[in-house]
Amino acid sequence: MKKISILIPCYNEQESLPLLYKALNEAMADSRVAGRYEFEVMLVNDGSSDSTLAILRQLHKEDSRVSYIDLSRNFGKENAMMAGFDYVTGDCCIIMDADLQDPPQVMFEMIEKWEEGYEDVYAKRISRGKESWLRKKLSMKFYKILNKMSKVEMLQNVGDFRLLDKRCVEALKSLRETERYTKGLFCWIGYRKAEVLFDRGDRVAGTTSWSMWKLMRLGIDGIISFTTAPLHLATWLGIIISFFAFIYLVFVLLKTLIFGDPVAGFPTLICVILFLGGVILLCLGILGEYVARMYSETKRRPGYIVREFNDKLV
Ligand code: UDP
Ligand code: MG
Repeated sequence: MKKISILIPCYNEQESLPLLYKALNEAMADSRVAGRYEFEVMLVNDGSSDSTLAILRQLHKEDSRVSYIDLSRNFGKENAMMAGFDYVTGDCCIIMDADLQDPPQVMFEMIEKWEEGYEDVYAKRISRGKESWLRKKLSMKFYKILNKMSKVEMLQNVGDFRLLDKRCVEALKSLRETERYTKGLFCWIGYRKAEVLFDRGDRVAGTTSWSMWKLMRLGIDGIISFTTAPLHLATWLGIIISFFAFIYLVFVLLKTLIFGDPVAGFPTLICVILFLGGVILLCLGILGEYVARMYSETKRRPGYIVREFNDKLV
């Protein structure tokens, strides 16, 4: 019998977890899968400060299908998922959010596609639930820019909700970068992909832990880890600005020679200096982002540390 792992990162999800477990339980008992597949539910506690861990321990005690990993602190969803990949044992792995925004019923369709031979079945949102207009707009812009810059095609309106064959999980496990942009890595590893559509609902309980700031960081991580295009910005700006500066130089020279114009233009000078200063700082900052990434990767720290796995301290 094939084994299906369900991987769920949890960060301060004490209100959602009981509802999640109920929904999962119902889904796993559904006639489409019950008795035909073995299930494993891998819950990763990403350093929650509420009673999430206590609930996970309780669920593990009551239900042998439930396993849990407790990370030593909050490492972020991307790293929590990496921990999950290392611990799941199924023939495939379904990644889901703990807040039921990814409805478990979608998994039947995913499993069907998987049985047809697809290795990466991702769920595409037709609607995105309650979200601000700005957030939706920014997300759209971000994917446009990222796709323009990177060689790997990134899918829009696709989150982490997907079914991965064991082979995909193995491939992802071999990518040990610690500042991860998993949405991009799914695309990077390739494999045969299929799509299922779903309506993304709202959180059942609790609040999102992704602030605008955190999302922006994730966006920058996405760009930096999948393209070096921003590094060429300095080169192009340099070429363009030098070109215009040269033309202007010729113009000023001729003007002085022909009309004997006395030198003036303090305001223009300040503007140009400030503008160039800004451009230089921007380019330095971009360089810095890449250097910082190199610095943190060369330290070779693990992406996460496990404190406890199924009642055993690690
Ligand atoms: N999550 C996590 N670590 C974090 C932040 C979030 O493991 O540092 C988990 C969270 O418990 C949830 C999933 O990632 O299962 C998605 O988070 P959330 O619902 O807050 O994000 P949104 O749905 O708003 O994108
Ligand atoms: Mg959510």
